[in-house]
Amino acid sequence: TIQENVFRAEKYVTPTGNKLNCKGWVQEAALRMLLNNLNPEVAEKPEELIVYGGRGKAARNIESLDLIIKALKDLNNNETLLVQSGKPVAILTTHEDAPRVLISNSQLVPKWATWEHFDALEKKGLMMYGQMTAGSWIYIGSQGIVQGTFETFAAVAKKHFNGTLAGTLTVTAGLGGMGGAQPLAVTMNEGVCLVAEVEEWRIDKRLHTRYLDEKCTVIDEAIDRALTAKQQKKSLSIGVLCNAVHLLQRLLERNIQVDVLTDQTSAHDPLIGYIPHTLTNEQANVLRQENPENYKALSYESMKQHVAYMLALQEKGAITFDYGNNLRARAKEAGLQNAFNFPGFVPAYIRPLFCEGKGPFRWAALSGDPADIAATDKCILELFPENKSLHKWISMAQQRIAFQGLPARICWLGQGEREKAGLAFNELVRKGIVQAPIVIGRDHLDTGSVASPNRETEAMLDGSDAVADWPILNALVNTAGGASWVSLHHGGGVGMGYSIHAGMVIVADGTEAAAKRLARVLRNDPGMGVIRHADAGYDIALDTLRKNGLSLSDRLK
Ligand code: NAD
Repeated sequence: TIQENVFRAEKYVTPTGNKLNCKGWVQEAALRMLLNNLNPEVAEKPEELIVYGGRGKAARNIESLDLIIKALKDLNNNETLLVQSGKPVAILTTHEDAPRVLISNSQLVPKWATWEHFDALEKKGLMMYGQMTAGSWIYIGSQGIVQGTFETFAAVAKKHFNGTLAGTLTVTAGLGGMGGAQPLAVTMNEGVCLVAEVEEWRIDKRLHTRYLDEKCTVIDEAIDRALTAKQQKKSLSIGVLCNAVHLLQRLLERNIQVDVLTDQTSAHDPLIGYIPHTLTNEQANVLRQENPENYKALSYESMKQHVAYMLALQEKGAITFDYGNNLRARAKEAGLQNAFNFPGFVPAYIRPLFCEGKGPFRWAALSGDPADIAATDKCILELFPENKSLHKWISMAQQRIAFQGLPARICWLGQGEREKAGLAFNELVRKGIVQAPIVIGRDHLDTGSVASPNRETEAMLDGSDAVADWPILNALVNTAGGASWVSLHHGGGVGMGYSIHAGMVIVADGTEAAAKRLARVLRNDPGMGVIRHADAGYDIALDTLRKNGLSLSDRLK
């Protein structure tokens, strides 16, 4: 007999086409995006409902997943489903312009906001870790991060290597859901990338989706191949089956000049995410179950060593940065005092973009038809003819990005641009140029939606790194504006106690009502970022604020 409480991919297939399974397109979009998050082509471990980022899940357990699906199919156009850490808890009457789903994931009262407390609650079945887009149903596979990663490496190239990574060696680790975008982002910038990864199936998955060029199981061989490509100025990415610590150790022993150095192992989660170099993968899986305390101790020791090696390579000239996994904080917690001697990627490369309201705008074609994304690509290129880097990005993405699950696209758009794009997509739906509605969302890693002092809000100009009013206001204003679903999470990216962040998704279904909601939400959402950065004193943000009519003092004149 078939067990009902296990994940069977064939039972959770994402509907496509233009026929509704729900009572409206907004509910339908939530249903399709939830199932898309769990599509085995999209999710890292769908059998555990894990989408990406260590243990970032889409629903608390199978029972909750089934209930959410049932609720979405039953939900009326004047009702709202409430989801508490991955479990549906109520359907309440609201109104047609209100969000159809409101989600709160992994929230703990600050004094209790530790992994220890969270683990105990998770064990009792009372909580779920939502990461960022996993629990808010807008993960679109590795593409979701690839443009951001591409932009970061492009900024590195611009700042340090005359605009190209050609002839340089980048070293990193982690080929998971997000980290898997690194090799492609480096080769798109013409560089050579060595990525350590302990799990072979992850390497194979990135080869399969063409994010990675080659696999190598011997460290020295991988280094030699990378050096040859670097010398020939050829772009190449190699996944090395080994622990990050062992790769860095060998690079130091051989005195290899590393040009760019970072890391995207799941260091935010010392128990489920990071694998210590003193254990094999198999041993890690056993010890994690049998003695979690012992596992975490080894994990911390390993992260301390990992950062110590990064600092040693930085001394030898590698441009080194933390890539948003809280590795520096873990090493410091383990006693490495100078762990923060290299910067995080946001203050180093991304903040100027945030000041213009720019961030990872993304959309998916609910029809399931790649031709619909081609139509939106064309639309975006026509809307922003002067934006050269956007044109470069879209043409590279068309050639090199394999869709995972529902066809989707990402591109970083700023204040004013997101609103324009959303309304244009709504017109494509209205005119029948695309087969079904388009769902628009973003990462929580965005300009106005997150407080995360070791990542998005590291080293703010006014010292307001830990102020978390901003993401709360962001979630509230998106709810007030009529986003299709809104989420408020804790601990994404960097782990329990380190971040509060909000998500929003909005559906362009071609109706007049949707156009009004799109105009409000896609103006206010990035607007929160511009307002937040202007409040902190950034000139670029103050400028963007005034140009877009967002300034309170101008309003009250
Ligand atoms: P994931 O859990 O899907 O993948 C992590 C990978 O790291 C796994 O494949 C795992 O096998 C590997 N790994 C763990 N320890 C290792 C070690 N010591 N050596 C080599 N490989 C090791 O996570 P993900 O979604 O790829 O995210 C990775 C990290 O990056 C997370 O901490 C996440 O929060 C952070 N992140 C950063 C950004 C960003 O833009 N900077 C965005 C999203 C996520």
